[in-house]
Amino acid sequence: MSESSVIRKKYPGLAASAGEVASPQLRNQGTIGGNLCQKPRCWYYRGEFDCLRKGGDKCYAIDGENQFHAIFGHEDICAITHPSDTAPVLEALNARIHITGENGQRTISVSDLFVLPSENVMVETALEVNEIITHTQLPPPAANLRSAYRKVRARRAWDFALAGVALALEIEDDRVINGRVVLSGAAPVPWRSYQVENVIMGKKLDGKTIAEASQAAIEGAEPLSENAYKLFLFKGIIEEELEAIKNNK
Ligand SMILES: Cc1cc2nc3c(=O)[nH]c(=O)nc-3n(C[C@H](O)[C@H](O)[C@H](O)COP(=O)(O)OP(=O)(O)OC[C@H]3O[C@@H](n4cnc5c(N)ncnc54)[C@H](O)[C@@H]3O)c2cc1C
Ligand code: SF4
Repeated sequence: MSESSVIRKKYPGLAASAGEVASPQLRNQGTIGGNLCQKPRCWYYRGEFDCLRKGGDKCYAIDGENQFHAIFGHEDICAITHPSDTAPVLEALNARIHITGENGQRTISVSDLFVLPSENVMVETALEVNEIITHTQLPPPAANLRSAYRKVRARRAWDFALAGVALALEIEDDRVINGRVVLSGAAPVPWRSYQVENVIMGKKLDGKTIAEASQAAIEGAEPLSENAYKLFLFKGIIEEELEAIKNNK
């Protein structure tokens, strides 16, 4: 997907996000369905800990080693960050997810696929048992659509996002007239930043608006004991990505 000329031309943000997934070898084997449905990377969950998500009675990360964990949406229940790089862009682009199972077929918005810990801490997706994703569907891109994905990670080799942002914005006469902003590495689900959207909608991306949007990106954040550094990352990447869109880079 990262090398598809069609995707690169019509949805450059999606191509960019696919190119950020793991390594070329893993990407050549992996699928979008698997990328959306992959299990959390939390080291307690993957280790010998019976945490809430595995049916135990506590989250070990909330008061433990939480430097890579969520700053939004954890509600002190479970602080995984959603691991997928493609999910935030698919949500920014308002993709539809086609599902099939023993009770037939259904289609949902990608934003309805993911489940917050406060809804059900034992699952990551709204798929029923025996359901699978068959394909995803994107709306045709608007002529004035700008899409982008930016990911910050701890090292330049393959790694999951410490912080990321997917933008899909329609720009007319230098103003943002429509679109979505979705954060990755931020929350147990791809995290739509309505706060940033509210600041930029209808506005020109001048210095004042970009500064306000950067501040809005961290409104309502609830960093844990070891991950407040993410606040600076999110502020920085929102600022830089909006500047890039303003300068048509
Ligand atoms: C070392 C390493 C680094 C990685 N780094 C990143 C990264 O930086 N960013 C990133 O986004 N991803 C990353 N990944 C994830 C990886 O690239 C794949 O996207 C992911 O493992 C899914 O692979 P897969 O399609 O083979 O699915 P599987 O590994 O086969 O499945 C993953 C899960 O999804 C379920 N599943 C698979 N397909 C479907 C379907 N169609 N419908 C419903 N459920 C399904 C499976 O049951 C399983 O629970 C990394 C993986 C590894 C091993
Ligand atoms: S963050 Fe979630 S997966 Fe990790 S220890 Fe807490 S409950 Fe378990």
